[in-house]
Amino acid sequence: MGGSGNLLMPVPATSFASFSSHTRRNPPSTEPGTDMFVPIGTPVIAPADGRIYGYGDTIGPMTGRWVGIDFDNGMRWRSMHHSRLTLSRAFMGSRGFVRAGSTVALSGASGYGYEDWSRLSTMPGAHTHVTLWPTHVTRFGYDRNGKPYSIDFMNHVAKSGGAATPITEEETMSMQIAKNQDDSSKVSSRFIWGDGKQPQIINDSTADIFKDAGVKESPMSRDRWLWLLEWAKNRARSNP
Ligand SMILES: [Zn+2]
Repeated sequence: MGGSGNLLMPVPATSFASFSSHTRRNPPSTEPGTDMFVPIGTPVIAPADGRIYGYGDTIGPMTGRWVGIDFDNGMRWRSMHHSRLTLSRAFMGSRGFVRAGSTVALSGASGYGYEDWSRLSTMPGAHTHVTLWPTHVTRFGYDRNGKPYSIDFMNHVAKSGGAATPITEEETMSMQIAKNQDDSSKVSSRFIWGDGKQPQIINDSTADIFKDAGVKESPMSRDRWLWLLEWAKNRARSNP
């Protein structure tokens, strides 16, 4: 960590698997990045202004659901393993412009064919993997000297600010709510957190975790929601 830069943290993580740890894996990661451990359903925000360069909305690949942005500063970024992409396919497909701080996805544990691998003993906990490249070009792996083509996101993070930044793009939020309403027939309850100004509807798999734990639907603060989610997941683990 450290260094200088002006990128925002995409999620409010306190636990990480570092860029260098990716390069030391056996076999080494083909796309070294940073794993940011956060509960499923956590909003993932754009670290900088830019245009969507690509996305994947399926769970089959290792990446799971991912979304990528070509930053105006010349760098390329993508984040993966999401439970949901919150921008419309039409918007992403037309290389839509996103502002730093706007929500682009909800975090998850998708990929390798799983909707949620966070409870598998063979897999790490739910996290968002982020990759940063120095130019608008995707290059996997390492050069002939063993240097990764991707660079360490954490070396380019602003000293303050980031995931706590409120959602600024109205269009994004309304698209997200519309998408949730489209799916409303699939779940019988929804939980909403927010401070009254920025309400956030959570995703289906998180709603299921709450439902299984017998938590009643209600608006709640974000801190309360994060605490409750951990409690509900632990309860689910101890009652298989
Ligand atoms: Zn990773």
